[in-house]
Amino acid sequence: MPQYTPPLRDMQFVLHEVFKAADEFKAMPAHAEVDADTINAVLEEAGKFAAGVAFPLNISGDAEGCKLDSSTHEVTPPKGFKEAYRQYIDGGWPALSCAPEFGGQGLPHTVNQCLYEMLNSANQAWTMYPGLSHGAYEALLAHGTDAQKKTYLPKLVSGEWTGTMCLTEPHCGTDLGMLRTKAEPQADGSYKITGNKIFISAGEHDFTDNIIHLVLARLPDAPKGSKGISLFVVPKFNVNADGSLGARNPIYCTGLEHKMGIHGNATAQIAIDGAIGTLVGQPHKGLAAMFVMMNAARLGVGNQSLGLTEVAFQNALAYAKDRIQMRSLSGTKAKDKEADPIIVHPDVRKMLLTAKAYAEGARALQIFCTLLLDKAHSHPDEKVRKDSDELVALLTPIVKAFVTDNGHTATNACMQVFGGHGFIKEWGMEQFVRDNRINMIYEGTNTVQSLDLLGRKVLGNNGATLKKFGKLVGQLVAEEGVNEDMAEFINPIAMLGEQMTKFTTEIGFRGFQNPDEVGAAAVDYLRVAGHLVFGYLFARMAQVALRQIAAGNSDPFYVGKLQTARFYFAKLFPETVTLMRTARAGSKVLMDTDAALA
Ligand SMILES: Cc1cc2nc3c(=O)[nH]c(=O)nc-3n(C[C@H](O)[C@H](O)[C@H](O)COP(=O)(O)OP(=O)(O)OC[C@H]3O[C@@H](n4cnc5c(N)ncnc54)[C@H](O)[C@@H]3O)c2cc1C
Repeated sequence: MPQYTPPLRDMQFVLHEVFKAADEFKAMPAHAEVDADTINAVLEEAGKFAAGVAFPLNISGDAEGCKLDSSTHEVTPPKGFKEAYRQYIDGGWPALSCAPEFGGQGLPHTVNQCLYEMLNSANQAWTMYPGLSHGAYEALLAHGTDAQKKTYLPKLVSGEWTGTMCLTEPHCGTDLGMLRTKAEPQADGSYKITGNKIFISAGEHDFTDNIIHLVLARLPDAPKGSKGISLFVVPKFNVNADGSLGARNPIYCTGLEHKMGIHGNATAQIAIDGAIGTLVGQPHKGLAAMFVMMNAARLGVGNQSLGLTEVAFQNALAYAKDRIQMRSLSGTKAKDKEADPIIVHPDVRKMLLTAKAYAEGARALQIFCTLLLDKAHSHPDEKVRKDSDELVALLTPIVKAFVTDNGHTATNACMQVFGGHGFIKEWGMEQFVRDNRINMIYEGTNTVQSLDLLGRKVLGNNGATLKKFGKLVGQLVAEEGVNEDMAEFINPIAMLGEQMTKFTTEIGFRGFQNPDEVGAAAVDYLRVAGHLVFGYLFARMAQVALRQIAAGNSDPFYVGKLQTARFYFAKLFPETVTLMRTARAGSKVLMDTDAALA
């Protein structure tokens, strides 16, 4: 059976020692009271919930899955899930980072980020029920009318109701411009929605007495394509003026997908048969409104893979210390044993350190991004808000794709550490691999993320936001460039930063002549950008560790951090050389291949 220990020490290191989160919060009136002790106390309790309540249901939830009663359209998630959800809302967790005016506790997103990392390590399938509600809350907060906010937000904040996002239809997932669900205006200002959605996560369950679906649909006069999509809020039960539940809305789960992982989450086919909904935001501007939820979800999906990478690493490490097999190449290490523990073998270490580096890099990136998000929402200085917002937009596709791809590598490596036992269910390792796999697909596939990064966010504004990130790298290089101890961390990012400018210009120029060049380079480009970001973050973490060691701090945590950073720069970061080469190989070998693909 796998184990899980919340990585509170590493979270505290990133929050307090690297990013000085509490000092940042002091500059934001909404969070000025949030000090390090408060954050640590909240995270300690959050860790207890994740490890003690959600984690024990992970394997059983995977084995049992969800059940649909097709006569009532009701879904029963695995045993214990509903009770865990009850404990979650009794603990006030859904309200953690929500606005006080709707019953929230008003803590920064950064704290919620850490809560969710631990929940995802513990049980990704279960965590998606509250996770999607939080996204629905964000979308309604940003675009809902006062009446919608009053009706739905307090219940989403308390967790009494949950939310979903209903975008995908059988014939369209990536290309939402093709969606067919219709919305007909009614005399009372509401809309009658009709259509079929598929793959709707947490689309039906018995945790709560209402489910609030955010549904994309087309108005009768809608322009074709993505410019003709509107967003509607469609509750499972209509809500009366006094807040009580009214009639059952005809929005039904008609099937559950049988899938590779996240079995405990209900992936629902949803038939909408004239259900009553209300418009969120402006007509035909639904995608923009939904993007609030989608952007939050993209950061959330990266966090899912961070969670799985961490828990897979913890278990692989424990196994590698315990499992004995063969002798070390450099001579016997455990003389009292029949063989040495497998952790003595270089390649086992490589697998473990890959997972550790990807977990620690991802944690730093997720916290970096959510701190930017807090600044974008709550900083009094407009320029700081704007800059932070732009940087989060740039980093979002990197979080979604780089962290989830790394999660795939890492969970696989950790399973490999177990040899044949990793393939056997009872160890729990193959579940981490299966559960992680969807993270590379949903919320816009990782290919779509790379096109968003290179096409829209980099070339679309002539590299202006990328230059802003480059400035942060430049500042660190200027600060530490003369420090010999930092050279092994600073030189690679300084060099890649320079190469990146040329690389981007070159791809942009080729793309200008032939847009397929952008499509052919984008996935490689995103990984190079991901390494620049991870490199920057590892250099900052190494800087703190080196300073602590120089000051005489003997906590082995800092030595471990430096060793992980060294491993990262020596064994993972150099992938950028190959990636730039394959990106430069261009589109011709792909697009002139009709004979090969005939
Ligand atoms: C378990 C699960 C849960 C989900 N949860 C939700 C949910 O809660 N709500 C919701 O609305 N949806 C949900 N989805 C749907 C998910 O977001 C889509 O499956 C995903 O966006 C991909 O769409 P698709 O499956 O239609 O694939 P397609 O769009 O058909 O894509 C097929 C392939 O073509 C590639 N491709 C497409 N267009 C391009 C392009 N322009 N350039 C390069 N490559 C391209 C894709 O990257 C992919 O590899 C979920 C899916 C699953 C499996």
